[in-house]
Amino acid sequence: MNQTTRRRALIAGNWKMNGGIAANAVLLEGIRSGANGLAAELAVCVPAPYLAQVQAALSGSPVAWGGQDLSLHASGAYTGEVSGAMLRDFDCQFVIVGHSERRSLHGETDAIVADKARQALACGLTPIVCVGETLEEREAGHTDSVVSRQLMAVVSALGQQLAKIVIAYEPVWAIGTGKTATPEMAQQVHAQMRALLVGVDPVAGRGVRLLYGGSMKPDNARDLLAMDDIDGGLIGGASLKADDFLAIAKAA
Ligand code: PEP
Repeated sequence: MNQTTRRRALIAGNWKMNGGIAANAVLLEGIRSGANGLAAELAVCVPAPYLAQVQAALSGSPVAWGGQDLSLHASGAYTGEVSGAMLRDFDCQFVIVGHSERRSLHGETDAIVADKARQALACGLTPIVCVGETLEEREAGHTDSVVSRQLMAVVSALGQQLAKIVIAYEPVWAIGTGKTATPEMAQQVHAQMRALLVGVDPVAGRGVRLLYGGSMKPDNARDLLAMDDIDGGLIGGASLKADDFLAIAKAA
């Protein structure tokens, strides 16, 4: 379905705080060796200390890479933070912004997420902006309002730059839990996001890629990725095994 709407699927791995030099080398070699000729675009978003290793391992391959967060600030007294320009120094193309773990564990509000998306674009990075409801919010029937609020906070802040971002719908209750939204449940939210985006900008809104994330695995990827408005995946656990990650990419 993605082909008919001209959106090329993106399969992006989120390693989270996992990895080590030796294990990364094996994983990166596995991904690199299986990445040629795939219809989907591939990327891995890795912990900042491994960016040099990832850059060396993936340069010249069809696989892009990125960070998992960036600072709101360009430079200065922000101990522990990593700026967008630093990510660009390692040729990052992408950066995840507003992952639910950043929102819940680091207090990132909609306004901060919007500012980070803007900062990413200013640094020449493509933000993968995450939105999604908690289980409590879903059960209270608030999925649509929560996702719309999170999405519109970013879209309103970006103005004309909507076409330059990627959005990932990640229901919080499905992340790392083994519980996946059914393809129909995910498509329903994606269709709602698409309608909102098209309402803001018909051309950009139709072109923006909407990824699904939340326990996507080789055995459920095909059905999820077959849905009209699911243009790829943000993959956590399954991105740590080259065979699984590539199997998901092949399903796209
Ligand atoms: C994620 O962390 O973005 C994610 C989707 O994780 P998992 O695939 O492990 O649910």
